[in-house]
Amino acid sequence: MEEKIGIIVGTTLQSVFILTMFYMATRFFGRMFGNIYAAIKGNNTSLESCRSCGHKISKEAVFCPYCGQTFGNINSFSTSIFANFIAGVVALAGGIGLLFYLLDLLKDQ
Ligand SMILES: [Zn+2]
Repeated sequence: MEEKIGIIVGTTLQSVFILTMFYMATRFFGRMFGNIYAAIKGNNTSLESCRSCGHKISKEAVFCPYCGQTFGNINSFSTSIFANFIAGVVALAGGIGLLFYLLDLLKDQ
């Protein structure tokens, strides 16, 4: 009986941990897509003409969605997109790994 309670508690804790990993992965991927969106659209609506093609684009945009011209701070944006992507993949892989580990444990019971 006590052993069963231990298994239930352990399983519950691991499930919570796995869900946290998936939640973090979602957050990282969400931030990554937010950064990509901000890089294209910018964070505000004030517009200026693209230096390269003349299309109206956001002042905050780090590259022109029409011609691909980059404007200065593209590196910090792509770095944070990349970092969020890696963090998301790690969290997702960790969550999936733990999930299979947990399923394996339960199978042996
Ligand atoms: Zn352009």
